[in-house]
Amino acid sequence: MHYDVIIIGAGPGGIYSSYEFAKSGKNLKVGVFELGNPLEKRKCPIDGVNVKSCVKCKTCAIMSGFGGAGAFSDGKYNITNRFGGTLYEYIGKEHALELMRYVDDINTSHGGAGTKLYSTANTKIKKACLENGLHLLDAQVRHLGTDINYIVLENLYNELKDKIDFHFNTAVNAVRKTENGYEIETENGTHTCRYCVVSVGRSGSKWMEQVCSSLNIKTLSNRVDIGVRVEIPAVIFSSLTDELYESKIVYRTEKFEDLVRTFCMNPHGVVVTENTNGIVTVNGHSYEDESRHTENTNFALLVSKHFSLPFKDSNGYGESIARLSNMLGGGVMVQRFGDLTRGRRSTESRIRESYVTPTLSATPGDLSLVIPKRILDGIIEMIYALDKIAPGTANDDTLLYGVEVKFYNMEVALDNDLQTSCEGLYVIGDGSGVTHSLSHASASGVYVARHILSKIG
Ligand SMILES: Cc1cc2nc3c(=O)[nH]c(=O)nc-3n(C[C@H](O)[C@H](O)[C@H](O)COP(=O)(O)OP(=O)(O)OC[C@H]3O[C@@H](n4cnc5c(N)ncnc54)[C@H](O)[C@@H]3O)c2cc1C
Repeated sequence: MHYDVIIIGAGPGGIYSSYEFAKSGKNLKVGVFELGNPLEKRKCPIDGVNVKSCVKCKTCAIMSGFGGAGAFSDGKYNITNRFGGTLYEYIGKEHALELMRYVDDINTSHGGAGTKLYSTANTKIKKACLENGLHLLDAQVRHLGTDINYIVLENLYNELKDKIDFHFNTAVNAVRKTENGYEIETENGTHTCRYCVVSVGRSGSKWMEQVCSSLNIKTLSNRVDIGVRVEIPAVIFSSLTDELYESKIVYRTEKFEDLVRTFCMNPHGVVVTENTNGIVTVNGHSYEDESRHTENTNFALLVSKHFSLPFKDSNGYGESIARLSNMLGGGVMVQRFGDLTRGRRSTESRIRESYVTPTLSATPGDLSLVIPKRILDGIIEMIYALDKIAPGTANDDTLLYGVEVKFYNMEVALDNDLQTSCEGLYVIGDGSGVTHSLSHASASGVYVARHILSKIG
């Protein structure tokens, strides 16, 4: 089959790109190839009863399929250049924000109307943070919630399915340059196209590296974020989450002057596992629907590790730490803050007697056996700093799940159109290393689609 445009990956990057092509009215032949399932068939076998932990499916339903890694996410679309990616470095700050707002309009017109848009503007929390050595980053956040996020995806798919060829359960194995474009090799045969947009996210990071190497495209990899997911009674963080929902707070540690930051805050949410290439790490989400709210709030505390040459495998470093926790805990490990600071492991009985009921069934253990000391010291310092603006954060019963690893794709060398050194081959979303979030990934998809449309004329 020959296409005008082939998009590899049906995560937010691929979806909003195909939306833009479909909307253009240019009648282009666009094919989307996705290794996972259509939305309605994405089902993680963990049910908390018969299957309690990750069984390492061939393709992870949480990470792959229509909607990508974002499908069961909390659906927090951050409209900001302060975090979530560096798209602005390629296309300019105003343009990046404009595209994020455009994506927000698509979301609200496809089921997200009525969801709340939070903002850090004029908040007193900023001052309270500054008084305690903490820094609140400016942003607007549209919180769709896992349930509405699903509905938006469902509506988008229904609108796109007659205009775009979706090939599910079809992993792309290779991308080759042809005289007039590209040939992609899948498990079910080959297809050609004039323009190829690669949007394979974090789960496709290793594959992306192979493609870059086969096409001689330069890459750079030097960062990984390592930390824990913190779970506390929701009331402790309510002064922050009621007003801002998600606050990105950064703290510089006194001991090492490392930066520790909050990430992915889920008020009244649940802690979940995540399987990236067979490695089980921790994450979290929450629902807009109040009937699915829990009594807890969770968020990650992460420390970025940047490596310098000769070491190049930052993700490998993160994977090794996650593997260590998988080895000791059989998956994700949980520890009470009081146990960690007293230098002892948590046990089933200590967790049972704790006043915070875990929302994830994880193995009680000792995170100090897994997380490097410098990182763990930074996390402990930040928990005490957060305790000053949200008293109770440093309670003994605060739960820490580990490890949370935020893998970064290597950065693909791209020009300002997000085009590689191979003409007509674009890389968008988290797979490019340029974005790390729903809003930035989606915006990059719209940007590249518009660029290709302008070339086609
Ligand atoms: C549990 C969880 C919660 C999250 N919560 C939030 C949040 O609230 N807010 C936020 O901003 N971000 C969140 N994120 C991150 C967010 O989901 C990602 O930043 C976003 O999905 C990136 O979009 P993408 O299109 O670049 O990649 P992805 O969403 O990863 O999509 C890539 C797609 O490509 C497919 N693919 C990979 N390789 C191939 C191949 N060789 N052939 C064919 N298909 C392939 C994959 O199966 C996948 O479906 C969360 C992530 C997780 C896992």
